[in-house]
Parts: sequence; C-alpha cells; structure tokens
Amino acid sequence: MPEIVLTNVVKKWGDFYGVDHLDLNIPNNSFVTLLGPSGCGKTTTLRMIAGLETPTSGQIRIGDEIVFDSERGINVPPAKRHVGFLFQNYALWPNMTVYQNITFGLKNVKEEMNVYDWNLVRLNDYIKVLGKPEKVIALIHDSADKDGKIKADRAIIKIVDFFQVSYPTGKKVFRLNLQSAENPNDLAAAQIEEAKAKIQQIEAKYKAKGVKLDDQFRILGSDGKPTSKVRKLSPEEIDLKLRAVARILKIGEFMARYPAELSGGQQQRVAIARTLAPGPKVLFMDEPLSNLDAKLRLEMRSELKRLHLETGATFVYVTHDQMEAMTLATKICLINNGVLQQYDRPLEMYHRPVNVFTADFLGSPAVNLIEAKGRFIKGKGVFEFDVFGGHKAIFKPIEGFDLAKKIAELNASRRTPTAGKANKDGNFAYKVPVIESKIDVADNPVITDEDFILGVRSQYITLNEGGKLDAKVYSAMPTGKETTIRLQIGNFLLTGDEYGAVDYAVDTDLKIGFRGEHIMLFDRKHQDLLTLGSLEII
Ligand code: ATP
Repeated sequence: MPEIVLTNVVKKWGDFYGVDHLDLNIPNNSFVTLLGPSGCGKTTTLRMIAGLETPTSGQIRIGDEIVFDSERGINVPPAKRHVGFLFQNYALWPNMTVYQNITFGLKNVKEEMNVYDWNLVRLNDYIKVLGKPEKVIALIHDSADKDGKIKADRAIIKIVDFFQVSYPTGKKVFRLNLQSAENPNDLAAAQIEEAKAKIQQIEAKYKAKGVKLDDQFRILGSDGKPTSKVRKLSPEEIDLKLRAVARILKIGEFMARYPAELSGGQQQRVAIARTLAPGPKVLFMDEPLSNLDAKLRLEMRSELKRLHLETGATFVYVTHDQMEAMTLATKICLINNGVLQQYDRPLEMYHRPVNVFTADFLGSPAVNLIEAKGRFIKGKGVFEFDVFGGHKAIFKPIEGFDLAKKIAELNASRRTPTAGKANKDGNFAYKVPVIESKIDVADNPVITDEDFILGVRSQYITLNEGGKLDAKVYSAMPTGKETTIRLQIGNFLLTGDEYGAVDYAVDTDLKIGFRGEHIMLFDRKHQDLLTLGSLEII
C-alpha cells in the first residue's frame, strides 16, 4: 500500500487560502484523520489528494506515482488514482439490491490485470470445500431456523464465508445435499475425483499449447511471469470480491434486500462495502458517520478500525469531531485556517500540543487555560507566577528545559504568514471562563514577555488531596462513571473531574492542587508550547 506525500500544496480562490502551503506525509498503511474546525480546509485537502479538486500549486504523490504537479503540468484524473471514496451522503441506489449496489462498480472496472483460468479456480475451490464434508454439513445445520428448517441462502453464505469461495461454488456444494446423503464422505470423494479429472483435462490443453500456469491458476508468459492485459473482472472475481467485503462487514445475508429494507447502520456498512469492493489502495472518507446516531457511530468507529487492519489500506478520514479523530487515527493532521497546526500521534498531540489552539481543540472536557504573569528564575530553574488574580505559583519545567534555547528554536521554526492572504492567521482567541462573563484575549491586548498561559487538563486537578488553593464547587455533573466538576476560584472557573460515582453539593468548599508533570506552559504572545512541567500554588 502506498504512502501519500503532499509537498507545498496550495489551494486558493482569489486571495482566500483554503489550504495554505501544506506539507504532509501520510505513511503507508496508516489511518490519518484530517481534523479541524468548520471551513479549515479538511475537505479541500482530501479532494485534492483524490483528484476531485485541482490545487493552485504544489505536488501530490501517491505511492510511486506523481498524481499532481503544478510545475510539470501533471494531473492524473480521479479514476486513475486507485482510491476509494466514502462521503457523508453515501446514497445507495434505492432501486438496486445490496448485491447490485456493491457489484455495480465492479462490473465497470476495466484495467490491466493478471489473466486467470477461472474454470480451474472454481474447480479448485470446489475441491477445497469438499475436502471437509463434516464442516459443510455442520454449516448447513447451523443455518436452520428455530423449527429446524434449513435456509438455503443462509447455508450457502455460511459455506461461502467459511471457505472464502464464490457464491456459485457455495451453491454447487449446497446442492449436493451432503447432509442427507447416506455416506457424505463417499459422495464428496466422488465429486473431488470428477473435479480433479476436469482439471487434468484443462491442464493438458494448456500443456499441448506450451502454456504454463502458476499455483493461483494465473497464465504465465514466456518469461515465467504472470501475464496481464486490460480487461474487465470475471463474474467469479466479482463475486469473490463481493464476498470478501461482505464477510468483513457482516452483510452477506442482506444481498437480496433493497436499501429501504435495511437499518441505517446496515446501509452504512453496505456503502463501506461498495467502496471497499474494488480493493482501493487508499480509502478516503469524509465524515462518513455523521448521519448516524451516537450509539451506531461508536459501533461503526470500531468496525472502521478493524477494517483498516483487515484491508491493510491507507485510510484518510475527514472529521471535525476530535473524539472520533483521537480514537480512530494512527496520526492526526490538525488544520486551522488552511494551515497545518500539528501532525502527530493522537496521544502525543493530546499531551504535547504545539500551541494553545491544539491544546484547546483536543480533549473533552476542554483544557483549562490559565493566564499567568511572571518570570523564569534561572538560578532555581523554575517560573514564578501570579495566577487567578493574586495567587503565587511555582511552575517547574520537566528536566532538560532551557528557555533561551526553546525560544530560539521557536523563532527559527515559526512560519512567516503568507503574503496577501485574505484570511489572516491571527492568534487563536481562547477563552478563560469566569463567572457570568467570558473574557477573551482581544480584551487584553498588551502582552509582554512576562505573559504566559498554563494549560491544565481536568484530570491533573486534585480535589482535597493536600492542594493549597481555595475553591468552591460551582456545579457537579455526575455520569456514574465519573463526575465533571466546575470549580470556582474567586471569579475564575476551572473544570476538574473525579472517577467513580461521586457527587458534590454546589458551594462545597474544596482545596485544590495540580498533580503530575503534564501541565502545559505556553508563551502568550505566540501561543506556542514552551514546555511541560508541574505546578504548585504556594
Ligand atoms: P467543514 O468541516 O465545514 O466541511 P472543511 O474544513 O472541510 O469544513 P473546506 O470544505 O475544505 O472546509 O473549505 C475550506 C474553505 O475554503 C472554506 O472556508 C470554504 O468556504 C472555502 N471554499 C471551499 N470551496 C470553495 C470554492 N469553490 N470557492 C471559494 N471558497 C471555497
């Protein structure tokens, strides 16, 4: 499976940058989610990789093939990029059965493929199934309804799924009625002999012509390699591809039904099967689960994760739901205003967000952002801060932190804003929750080098565990598994949580503190992460 590499990709409409100089390397076999707020450029990025949108400039490579290059005038059409799409409005064709919906696209595939002898493949599969007559009988009995009546279609699907053969082969085996035969083993053995004789006959014909086949029954050329030609898929191949995806998505039993006769989740699975059936090397999905209810969405997420492993394809998935991105992705690409913010593994991004925007976008409940004023005391290796309108705090960076070096690094790596960009890349307008009103950054424009922002995830706030800060319970929201607690410190609000079925009465007095070394420190001017560390109120 290929990697996808975007180099300096720009998409603009007039002076508006939908995607602003994007470099991205989507590794082979990864599950990358494109995440960001509405309008940030996720869909545009996906559509450009897929070939549905033409970039203004840059280069896109899928595997070994450059599919777009503005300078060299390369623009490979979508159909030739070997990618599958699954969109939010996946619309199955209502007048076609599930079988027809999935096979429709397969029937239109016409490309260079190896040449097989399908009679040999079929005979070989038939022999493979009949080699285990007891298993066939067990599968047939397994298909009986509660009155003991054997259901032909279900029995055939069971044979097809278990032995990974086509439906016609499953049907041929079922029609032998092994389960009613006096001696099923003899019946199967006789059939195997007959099939073997047919194979020999066919092979003899090839031999007479001097043509060789390999063990998959591919016709070999004079160089001993499988030959290939531009052709359509054979009915046997179409069925095998259909069965392979139906097995993974557990829709084998619905083949004869129309979309209206399926539940939302089943329709979704059929849509995924339809996309996967041609065996795309890369699968693009644009918010494919957004039409489903919460429970089904959770179920489908786990299906997609499994599917990713089973197909070995590269998945690129657009979502604005940070939870979906976190749980699905091997890597998240977080975009804001057309600009890549961070491209990292989900937990790395969660614990080490590069800036305030990333910290705020990822995680539920949202990270607590606390404005802090103070200085780095070199001799002590700590920051001394004023927080929450007058409390003194000590922030101790994790080992190896060097402020001057970090600032130099950040200054060197900070990108220059794109000239002439109509949509300006300003600092993210974070909110510091306070009682009754919300003050945002625009209300306090004078920012010096002594202004910082601390980022504290709710789980790092301690409640009555020796912390020194006086707080009151503003509200408590128990779910049974955990309780999210809004804490009031003077005029400020923080969000903490506690595991287990605990409840807190409003206005309960608490002493809070901060645990661990996962407290984030950002400079307020650029909102970049400086370091992680521990925080203590003194
Ligand atoms: P959402 O989550 O809302 O789908 P998105 O991140 O997928 O958003 P895109 O659809 O990629 O956003 O759009 C990025 C920006 O480009 C948006 O501000 C959009 O308005 C703009 N845009 C998209 N297509 C065009 C177009 N054809 N002409 C002008 N602007 C466009």
